Amino acid sequence: MTIKPKLLIIEDEAAILRGLTDLFIFHGFDVSSEQDGLKGLEAALSGKYDCILLDVMLPSMDGFSVCNEIRKVSREQSIIMLTAKSSEADIINGLTLGADDYIAKPFSVQELVLRVKTILRRTGWDEERESLTLNENISIDKNNLSGIVNGKEVVFTRREVDILAYLHRQNRPVSRSELLSEIWGYSQPNLIDTRTVDIHIAKLRKKIESNSKAPKLLQTFRGEGYKLMVNS
Ligand code: CA
Repeated sequence: MTIKPKLLIIEDEAAILRGLTDLFIFHGFDVSSEQDGLKGLEAALSGKYDCILLDVMLPSMDGFSVCNEIRKVSREQSIIMLTAKSSEADIINGLTLGADDYIAKPFSVQELVLRVKTILRRTGWDEERESLTLNENISIDKNNLSGIVNGKEVVFTRREVDILAYLHRQNRPVSRSELLSEIWGYSQPNLIDTRTVDIHIAKLRKKIESNSKAPKLLQTFRGEGYKLMVNS
């Protein structure tokens, strides 16, 4: 018996929804769908999904609001936003609200499947190790994504923990393109994608640094990338 990964697709355009549904069923997913923002949110909150594909323009409630409402309840829910290709503002907005990833329309179906599978692999991989200890002052429970930073409780997203765990293991400056390929599963990152990394790094600095404007732990190495300064 195999357990199929559960995918929720919230998309109002019938043709796209049908195409995505067929695609992911073909790839072995258990697919549910909604064509309305509010109904999509209800489904997201009432079911247990391994990943949610979320369109931006939706009737009754837009994708950003849906994402925001999901995040109020669940930090670990994986969400990929389906955005319009031209709209950098949409992408930045979605990521700021807590989407793990975005894919721009019109998208390549292979790329979309790869992104979803990367998320599943990462979340599965994470379950093997229960806590991430960066130093004597910072440790994070990888299952419920809550951490203790300098004696205070701080909540993280799955993606943030993945980034910290990767940087911690590498113990060297890691470029944005490496992070995009290892953490997000992107094969050919573009300029907007690198902003994705920067936004996540900025959020992480706010969570783990005593002064996020002068980071001591999560440092930028010009021309090389980001390094977590906790191993030595
Ligand atoms: Ca739409």
